[in-house]
Amino acid sequence: MDKCSFCGREEKDVEILVRGTSGFICDACINQANEIILENKSKSDFDNSTIVLKKPIEIKKFLDEYIIGQDDAKKFLSVAVYNHYKRILNQDENDDVEVEKSNIIMVGETGTGKTLLAKTISKFLHVPFAIVDATIMTEAGYVGEDVESLLTKLLQAADYDVASAERGIIFIDEIDKIARKGDNPSITRDVSGEGVQQGLLKLLEGSIVNVPPQGGRKHPDQKTIPVNTQNILFIAGGAFDGIDKKIANRLNTKIVGFGAQDSHSHIDKNDFLKYVSPQDLKSFGLIPEIIGRLPVLTHLDKLNKEILRSILTEPKNAIIKQYIKLFSIDNIKLEFADDALDFIVDKAIDFKLGARGLRSICETIMIDAMFELPSSKKKSFIITKEYAQEKLNKSNISVD
Ligand code: ADP
Repeated sequence: MDKCSFCGREEKDVEILVRGTSGFICDACINQANEIILENKSKSDFDNSTIVLKKPIEIKKFLDEYIIGQDDAKKFLSVAVYNHYKRILNQDENDDVEVEKSNIIMVGETGTGKTLLAKTISKFLHVPFAIVDATIMTEAGYVGEDVESLLTKLLQAADYDVASAERGIIFIDEIDKIARKGDNPSITRDVSGEGVQQGLLKLLEGSIVNVPPQGGRKHPDQKTIPVNTQNILFIAGGAFDGIDKKIANRLNTKIVGFGAQDSHSHIDKNDFLKYVSPQDLKSFGLIPEIIGRLPVLTHLDKLNKEILRSILTEPKNAIIKQYIKLFSIDNIKLEFADDALDFIVDKAIDFKLGARGLRSICETIMIDAMFELPSSKKKSFIITKEYAQEKLNKSNISVD
């Protein structure tokens, strides 16, 4: 009687027995083996040995597939990430030259791709990645979450594998919201501002932090997990509303100071963010220590009509490609007329939501088609400008 070479069960006791060159395997053992493979695969997903360090140009090329424009930010990010992991992978304790961490800060209007950049980088590197919102943190002793809870999210993303979390990336969104209110350091303590920045400093500069595994506030007899932040890459992002005026002021003073009227001419007055410098962050209310710990400063460009149009159709997982794919699963060939795409872009500009507006506008336009077409006999469907206009007018979306 043939039997499984793994569990020993006989053919009559199993559903399927597969014959190999020198033995047999039953269906139950195949399933079990498959589970072992999957489990190991997900573990090794974040294994250090899987960090294949690509050169900055290759990193940028990868980013180009998913993100339109933003060349400056991509370049800075590619170099910073390359240096960061090069530093980790080549750590030599006997070497006197210690390469410091290159945490990054990105300044750019909402919906210009800051989160997308950070997310795409982590996807490229296969390292654990967490997005945290700076606004949920408060100074120890106040209601809200402790600064350490930033690390809880990363631990969760790494399935509580501390070693891989320690090489992960944390994206701190809305860093501008913890700016000190006013430029006066002696201002009375503000719960969400300077105290949080001080707390954050500890994490940014690299130290061993006791992390509450479930986040929230720490309490005395809670078990905590020590996490070393030395090799965690922090990428901070914020819109820094109003910083453009500070930049403009600074540029003006300088120009007038030097009496060089002509240098005005090559300043792009539509986008002052490209001239952002650490001192602007300081006048916005970040403390110098935090600025010092986020040494790589870059900006994101405003999204103009042309870029928004490309965002709709070009990236690897562009919104329009996603709809076309969804419909193709139902064997429906979906097309968008050029003027319909222009119309969507125009509306996104009206709504002032950056690229984020594109998605909600598309959803509103597409909802009826997505509801009705799968049950219809139609094999093709074209979204015309008139159709898009009609659907959007019917909806509650409006410019406020
Ligand atoms: P931010 O973090 O700057 O507020 P996000 O990265 O969350 O903005 O962007 C919101 C969405 O807009 C993204 O998920 C993406 O679909 C789209 N998007 C924004 N900027 C770009 C870009 N430059 N290229 C491609 N898609 C973009």
